[in-house]
Amino acid sequence: MLHCSVNPASIATLYDLGQDIDSAPRSLSLLFTMHIARPPVTLPPSVRVFERGWLSSNNILVQDVHHAALIDSGYCSHSDQTVALVKNALAGQALDLLLNTHLHSDHCGGNAALQAAYPALQTQIPPGLAHAVQPWTPSQLSFDATGQSCPPFHIDATLQPGSTLTLGGLEWQVHAAPGHDPHSVVIFAPQARLLISADALWENGFGVVFPELEGEDAFDEVGATLDLIEDLKPLTVIPGHGAPFIAVTQALETARKRLDYFQRQPERHRNYAAKVLLKFKLLEQQSMHVDSLVEWAVSTSYMKQMATSVQGAGSERALVLDWLAQLVQAGAAEQDGDQVRNRD
Ligand SMILES: [Zn+2]
Repeated sequence: MLHCSVNPASIATLYDLGQDIDSAPRSLSLLFTMHIARPPVTLPPSVRVFERGWLSSNNILVQDVHHAALIDSGYCSHSDQTVALVKNALAGQALDLLLNTHLHSDHCGGNAALQAAYPALQTQIPPGLAHAVQPWTPSQLSFDATGQSCPPFHIDATLQPGSTLTLGGLEWQVHAAPGHDPHSVVIFAPQARLLISADALWENGFGVVFPELEGEDAFDEVGATLDLIEDLKPLTVIPGHGAPFIAVTQALETARKRLDYFQRQPERHRNYAAKVLLKFKLLEQQSMHVDSLVEWAVSTSYMKQMATSVQGAGSERALVLDWLAQLVQAGAAEQDGDQVRNRD
């Protein structure tokens, strides 16, 4: 099996959050049907995708008879599953190399568990945050600011933009892809015209533009990264979340429309980002007392920044409850008295 879908149901949920910007949310059942009905994507035999949903990014395993590499490791609370998926797929072969497209918790949260499972594993990350990983410096990493978790891990080298790697019998180019994250890379195999796009391009958009939440202009970088992807002319994209897809032109068009919408109304982007972070917390916890969720939100720096940036808003608590109500309305959460639950 080339493409293993571990948790497709949760994909629909964040697509719904994305859809609410310019159309009525689609029903989960329709999206699930669309997921199943997608045309089959053929990947090179050396490439396998473990599609994980939203709490964990996809993991891409590239393997030949001598070496095996994994790109992105998922979220820490799923790390046992990540190790099990890799061990099962490798059937006794060692994992040699771990690459991270960027250091968000849902992409590198399984690093520590994989390093424990494979002591000789070499880990490479984009260079921008190498100084914050070694030595481990939480204040310079995103996990505290997003209110998420990531066990410390070590690195052995950096994944330099402009360099090439040979993995699974294919040559792969590393390209800088700032926007969603200033240090992110995308990885492209020109012979197969296969792109590992991380959160720079999804089938239905792209990831939250985190620098914008800190008041740094990054929408133009999102656009430049979309231009780069268009210039690479991939036939197939393996995104950071969701199934691999071949409708690349359509995905780029959707992403550009979405970028234009956010650039014209950055407050919509902040609102969307707040809901994504709340939803992520619910995916992690599954069920929380509403006061715990509010307390988490008002003590999480990205959430606080978004709350204070809303002009004329009431209390932070009221804003968080409003974002939560929007999640409930979109079918991404449910509230029963004081208890809030994730809804896939
Ligand atoms: Zn990310």
